[in-house]
Amino acid sequence: MSQKNIVVIGAGVAGLTTAFLLSKNRNYRIVVAAKHMPGDYDIEYASPWAGANYMPVSVRGTAAAEWDKNTWPPFEDLARNHPEAGVHFQECEIYQRAKDKGSATATWFSELLSTEPWFKDVVPNFRITSKNELPPGIDSATAFTSVCINTAIYLPWLVSQCLANGVIFKRAIFKHVTHAAAPSVHPAGSVDLVVNCTGLNASKLGGVEDKTVVPARGQIVVVRNDAGKMLDVSGTDDGEDEACYIMTRAAGGGTILGGCYQKGNWESQFDPSLAMRIMKRAVEIHPGLTGGKGIEHLDIIRHGVGLRPVREGGTRIEKERIGGTWVVHNYGAGGAGYQSSYGCSQAAVKLVDEALSAKAKL
Ligand code: FAD
Repeated sequence: MSQKNIVVIGAGVAGLTTAFLLSKNRNYRIVVAAKHMPGDYDIEYASPWAGANYMPVSVRGTAAAEWDKNTWPPFEDLARNHPEAGVHFQECEIYQRAKDKGSATATWFSELLSTEPWFKDVVPNFRITSKNELPPGIDSATAFTSVCINTAIYLPWLVSQCLANGVIFKRAIFKHVTHAAAPSVHPAGSVDLVVNCTGLNASKLGGVEDKTVVPARGQIVVVRNDAGKMLDVSGTDDGEDEACYIMTRAAGGGTILGGCYQKGNWESQFDPSLAMRIMKRAVEIHPGLTGGKGIEHLDIIRHGVGLRPVREGGTRIEKERIGGTWVVHNYGAGGAGYQSSYGCSQAAVKLVDEALSAKAKL
């Protein structure tokens, strides 16, 4: 195959992982063009705000479960063999309260809360927690070994991997997806294919305008306290759109206390009352966070708000011709952008290969 020129719109985890995998093919000359890049903190840029960990909520037998499954081996390899990527192993506990049964969160988490989830043979050390190990208020639990990703290290690491493979990065804001195919965007002077990894902004980008993509607002508190493990609870007593989870990032990234899942809420500023509830719940469920000394012993680094790009029907991995340009979509991962990143990007790369070899035959 002759050289093909590709523009990836977006430098979140979806755009960077896709560009990284595409860059392994020496026939592809790739430009990543984005409004936001690693190092930026902005409400329009979800990736830096994520925990981020691997706790699949995808349902057995779906494409989403396949993408999550395919993402575990690369992250396991990074945690085991590439400490410079900022990914480490953490023990993970999933707590279930009987009173949450049927709630929105418990239903959304049903696979994660199951004692027989599809991923029990994918992640190491999956087990059902014995009754005498359960904290007060928890009726059952499972545990397994997972990973936690320090996004402040991992996103720049992805950029570095791309740069080493010859990918070019530039800032750009496109009003229409086909504008990314303009000759001026690529140093080769022509573009064969555009990959659309615009996250939540796929709802506004001309030529795409996917109105089924909406925000699910997440608020977090980042603290210096070390949790020593990750945990997630099936619900809270503070409303169905609030959540309780804890994870400590690799390499001094602090501990993330979450959270909430407020669908349709675009608010960029943190809510101090919600922050108090997040911290109170975290210390209640895991008193070891503050050595049993209470919430005032949490050492806050910062508060954060991010918008998960949730798409009705799940992540869109598809190819289509828009105005004569081949476009491959990879957007709408919701709360699973990291834990599905390699699986989704592998699927997107397959579509790029198909589209470009079809184009070669035209
Ligand atoms: P984004 O990171 O939003 O990137 C979009 C990119 O497109 C940006 O570079 C932007 O500038 C660019 N762009 C958009 N429009 C244009 C345009 N018109 N022109 C040029 N550039 C454009 N996921 C997990 O797997 N595990 C977790 O533990 C986890 N925890 C989370 C916790 C919180 C609080 C939040 C908010 C999210 C969490 N997520 C988690 C979800 C994860 O963060 C998202 O799924 C993921 O970051 C989405 O990545 P993305 O690349 O699709 O979008």
